Amino acid sequence: MDFHSFNLHEDVLTGIDSMGYNKPTPVQEQAIPLILEQKDLIACAQTGTGKTAAYLLPLIDRISHGGYEHTSTLILVPTRELAKQIDEQVEGFGYFASVSSIAIYGGNKGDDWEQQKRALTTGADIIIATPGRLLSHMAMGYVKLDQLNHLVLDEADKMLDMGFMDDLIKIISQLPKQRQTLLFSATMPRKIRDLAQQILQQPAEVNLAISKPAEGIDQRLYLTYDNQKLPLLEHLLRELDVQSMIIFTSRKSNVTPIVRSLKKMNFTAEGISSDMTQDEREKALQGFKNKQYQIVVATDILSRGIDIDSLSHVVNFDMPQDAEDYVHRVGRTARAASTGMAITFVNEKDMYRVQKVERLIERELPKLALPDDFGPGPAYDPTRRDGGSARHRGGNKPGSGSKGDRHRSKHHRGPKPGAAPRPDGAQPKQEGSERPIKLAGQPGAEGEKKSGNRNRNRNRNRNRNKNREQGSSPASSTPATPQSNS
Ligand code: AMP
Repeated sequence: MDFHSFNLHEDVLTGIDSMGYNKPTPVQEQAIPLILEQKDLIACAQTGTGKTAAYLLPLIDRISHGGYEHTSTLILVPTRELAKQIDEQVEGFGYFASVSSIAIYGGNKGDDWEQQKRALTTGADIIIATPGRLLSHMAMGYVKLDQLNHLVLDEADKMLDMGFMDDLIKIISQLPKQRQTLLFSATMPRKIRDLAQQILQQPAEVNLAISKPAEGIDQRLYLTYDNQKLPLLEHLLRELDVQSMIIFTSRKSNVTPIVRSLKKMNFTAEGISSDMTQDEREKALQGFKNKQYQIVVATDILSRGIDIDSLSHVVNFDMPQDAEDYVHRVGRTARAASTGMAITFVNEKDMYRVQKVERLIERELPKLALPDDFGPGPAYDPTRRDGGSARHRGGNKPGSGSKGDRHRSKHHRGPKPGAAPRPDGAQPKQEGSERPIKLAGQPGAEGEKKSGNRNRNRNRNRNRNKNREQGSSPASSTPATPQSNS
């Protein structure tokens, strides 16, 4: 199957060509026809499957040829990173199809609010927004969504994890009831099904069986107490040949100590967490993409928004909360090269998750012994969910080695005895939540610059399309890759 079988318009197909997409991915194959039929859709698909284009392409096709004179499409996303990535994809396709978009997300520069306000007042075909920030703008009365035709919830499970449920409901209650709603989520827990029931009408379903990690990936688990993790990472880094590595951790308080420790070992490394300004985050990500840094340390909440693959190594400093997340992260290695390594540290509280992963990938993962001088780690017991007995709670067992002790005060921040284990480590809401944080960077400045450029771009596209209709060849003036104004 190729993209021509979808009956998309020529300008959209040209955009697809220019992005270098030859063949639809499975989620695109299934979702695009359903969206073109204007059905509501609930789709279980992760980042990396091509899910963004799965909804953008049919929506852009409709917007570009639907003659809408108003904002027709709202895409709600959990993080500013994802908002920016989607915005860039619209811009890529929108170079050929005449579609404009604006990304609305928090920032910490005083002036971005005004600039976003101006962009929203001017309007665009597509608004891509994080819920908290959009709601704040909506409260001011200048966001015009009264004629909205399409609503997309992207990474819906992440939005609910981050505490955006109430904001979502508030936003959706202000939208026209007659609309097409598309819900994309990496996982389908009960709360997503409940949300879908509230906001979708007789949805079609796309459910992608998760692809198992490639055979070439060397997957390793180490059973460790929390305070053994950093010394173990240091130990492994001395032995590995690291070209490019991402280290995921559930706790943002881990990011700085890990980065510090990597730098001490002469690795070039940067951290990415919500404690950083957006500028810093983008710089770190860009530096990594440009191979300026070998290693990026990122918090879980931001992990799905990070569009990086072809890594030589992935380290789960903490066991991922969802088995699907594990598979997705591990799949970031061994793409370009035929081999890659994925290392996961599993503490006594997370052992039950190992079985979930093993069931999903239909394969037992090797549990490697800690190096000799580390002393014993926790014994493997996948039935334990509660953080274990008192004998384990303090971190290392007595005599487990001085390396762990060095880091105990910093790294032992487990639940208090008797407390229910947090599923994803400390402070999940604050980590990625838009609202408590005065957001960083100059998205507004950029938003306005972009929207100004976009309007120009849009006119240019319209002219381009007009020229095309009049028979002039676009190929001669068409760049090989889509232009980006960002
Ligand atoms: P997503 O799952 O939407 O985050 O997409 C992951 C990556 O796959 C992005 O870099 C997309 O540009 C890319 N992509 C999406 N669809 C295709 C396709 N049909 N062919 C090649 N690359 C694609």
